[in-house]
Amino acid sequence: MSLKITGFETHDVRFPTSLTGDGTDAMNTDCDYSSAYVSLFTSGDLVGHGMTFTIGRGNDIVCAAIKELAQRLVGKNTEELFANMGKTWDHLCSDPQLRWIGPEKGVIHIALGAVNNALWDMYARSRSKPLWKLIVDMTPEELVNATAFRYITDAITKEEALAMLEEKAATKAEREVHVREVGYPAYVTSAGWLGYSDEKVARLTKEAVQAGFNHFKMKVGADRSSDLRRGKIIRSIIDDSAHLPADIAPRDPNGPDLIGKNAGPTGCVLMIDANQVWDVPQAIEYVESLQEIKPWFIEEPTAPDDILGHAAIRKALKPYGIGVATGEHAHNRMVFKQLLQAEAIDVCQIDSCRLAGVSEVLSVLLMAAKFRVPVCPHAGGVGLCEYVIHLSLIDYIAVSGSMERNVLEFVDHLHEHFLYPCSINNRGRYNVPSNPAEGYSIEMHNDSIARFEWPHGSYWVNEHAAAKARGVNGH
Ligand SMILES: [Mg+2]
Repeated sequence: MSLKITGFETHDVRFPTSLTGDGTDAMNTDCDYSSAYVSLFTSGDLVGHGMTFTIGRGNDIVCAAIKELAQRLVGKNTEELFANMGKTWDHLCSDPQLRWIGPEKGVIHIALGAVNNALWDMYARSRSKPLWKLIVDMTPEELVNATAFRYITDAITKEEALAMLEEKAATKAEREVHVREVGYPAYVTSAGWLGYSDEKVARLTKEAVQAGFNHFKMKVGADRSSDLRRGKIIRSIIDDSAHLPADIAPRDPNGPDLIGKNAGPTGCVLMIDANQVWDVPQAIEYVESLQEIKPWFIEEPTAPDDILGHAAIRKALKPYGIGVATGEHAHNRMVFKQLLQAEAIDVCQIDSCRLAGVSEVLSVLLMAAKFRVPVCPHAGGVGLCEYVIHLSLIDYIAVSGSMERNVLEFVDHLHEHFLYPCSINNRGRYNVPSNPAEGYSIEMHNDSIARFEWPHGSYWVNEHAAAKARGVNGH
């Protein structure tokens, strides 16, 4: 049915996570996880919801940018927009005046992530499919047309992408059945925030092992002796088969899914994340000094735009068997293109809304598959886990065709605010979203928006001062 986009509304929604130390790392010490949320409306019942993630102050600035971009969709015919989402994406990011305050970076680009994701959510709802299913059911031509291709054809042409997708097309159905059955591999970050005490880290790590997880990530970079101490605590738990659930056998650390990941005797893997705190030489020296805790990779060792810096760190750490991962702050597909071309990363960490929505994510999935670098999306925050399971399913079913070496970040915070929250099975893997009404799984409960909207929501007006006074502060 032909509908027109008639309008939109935005919401600046902020959750008081700074009270508990959730989300603390070496760079981000005081986070109030926030959603710059947008709903698109049509001349019919069809709606689309999207958001981008911030950590508090500035969320209002992103909402202002979202309003400017969403205005470009008002009056448009939905079927014409859906018919070529790559062209639609080009239209959204090429406003002749807004472009000046990017282009394709910073506030304007993450705002575009919210708007593009809302339109994809609407498209999926219009076909009564979850977003991942909408995309894996596309023909290779349709998928390539939905992708942002400008500025990446020196790394991958449309013809190469088509050939890659065609090669995978015949076996898509088998992979879909398989992943619905076993779930998509995940890892936990929630045990290793810097703001947590040693006791809390140990307790949360034991709980995560019991829940079936076998990849764990710890924040580093604020204090070397504390990093080593916490790393040893985590390793002492994950490497001890006594902590494994009774019905889970240790995995072979030299198996094809774990080789090269510095897995311990039980097949468990530790990763570390510095959130950009170091200069390049400092990163190399610091990570060398943590080699005893045997990380698979160091994530975000330095400035996210420093492609050659990441390449230098990767080269220097190779003799120790420690890899480099980055991407959650890589602001567009060109940064990923160069990280791949410069052989700067072992793991590609796309973000669902720092990249400007699904269309730009597809371009990075295609490039990573061509360069044979596994995609392990960034998640956590608020809403990111709900989003990224869709992206990893697209990668596995339609693009790269593999998942057992990949791991998708999982952080168990704030899922209760969503109508279709993500979930994890008893093997520490994401369940496949399968409600035909859920679109991109990002619709938030109206009462959560009303309670946490900044600054006039009932939580911020009535409850915050009292919560702060009670001193529920984990730092
Ligand atoms: Mg990170």
